[in-house]
Amino acid sequence: MTVGIVGAGQLGRMLALSGYPLGLDFLCLDPARDAPAGEVAPLLHGAFTDTRLLRQLARRCEVVTFDWENVSVASLRALRRGHGARICPPVAALATGQDRVTEKRLFEKLKIPTTRWRAVNSRADLTRAVAAIGLPGVLKTRRFGYDGKGQAVLRTPVDVERAWLRLGTVPLLYEECVPFDCEVSVIGARSTRGELAIYPLCGNVHAHGILRLTRAPYGPRAWQARAARYLARMLAHFRYTGILTIEFFVRDGRLIANEIAPRVHNSGHWTIEGAACSQFENHLRAILGLPLGSTRALGHSAMVNLIGAVPQRSALLSFRGLHLHDYGKQPRPGRKVGHCTLVEASAARRDARALKLLKDLAAGVGIP
Ligand code: AMP
Repeated sequence: MTVGIVGAGQLGRMLALSGYPLGLDFLCLDPARDAPAGEVAPLLHGAFTDTRLLRQLARRCEVVTFDWENVSVASLRALRRGHGARICPPVAALATGQDRVTEKRLFEKLKIPTTRWRAVNSRADLTRAVAAIGLPGVLKTRRFGYDGKGQAVLRTPVDVERAWLRLGTVPLLYEECVPFDCEVSVIGARSTRGELAIYPLCGNVHAHGILRLTRAPYGPRAWQARAARYLARMLAHFRYTGILTIEFFVRDGRLIANEIAPRVHNSGHWTIEGAACSQFENHLRAILGLPLGSTRALGHSAMVNLIGAVPQRSALLSFRGLHLHDYGKQPRPGRKVGHCTLVEASAARRDARALKLLKDLAAGVGIP
């Protein structure tokens, strides 16, 4: 049975690696010849919108999934309509995740608390939005933003003018800047049979808009229960199949939804070693109508992203109990090139060891 993946990044690579023990095969599509998943699975090389390659993918695969949220919705819809391809997760969820305004409206419809926001399509809209919401705030491109790209924090009227000059050529959204106590994400799967499996809550720390550290399980039970309720609502809304993530800010014990990710998620990488069944395997089980695996945590996990370049393997592996995932990417500033996971017996020990690892990485220990 072959699973098609539109996108062959590290998420596609980890999907394939988790699917081989289940006896699955994979076929990826990606514009980059050196895409990480292409090292472990056959790769169709071309644009995400290449109809000939997409048709090939649909013909050769049982189901088509995607590993990047900015793949073309129009191309996937055409593939489903014209060639009867089964596409999971639903394209409607992908379309919602690609448009911050549609996403905000859906949070509101499903009564999932979110930030105060306004759509901004002109300079006058921005003036009105800043008057209504106040400063500081965050101006974001409505589409194609990820890892903090395409956004600006506005603190002063000068920032407003500067951000407008930088971002004002595309549709935008302005929202309140949340002075959050922490950020969390909830990750769960819904299968084609309607079965649900939700992971313990993840606590996330970002630096320059990029995820740096995830710890799980994280936070009090009340947060977990509330996040799981919100996620279940979103999964039911889309009659979703596969893994879905919702990211939240936490302020005074309130969960405030930031965004959804209709795919396996960076904050779920700890599940490879830290949960009974990983998010990658559960995504595959969910889209293939197989029974879902347990989401139980096996200990207290910390996942640290490797950004820019993978430090020397021997130095990293001298860190006892560290699991290394090198995505095989070329080094580049700001690029996610790998991650490390630690699984410990207590939260206190996990936090201390994660801090030590982060300090070593920041000090350049082992960096060639
Ligand atoms: P995003 O691309 O929306 O996920 O934003 C990336 C990161 O920027 C978030 O994880 C936060 O750390 C920060 N951020 C985004 N929006 C806001 C906001 N409205 N208030 C405070 N921080 C934000």
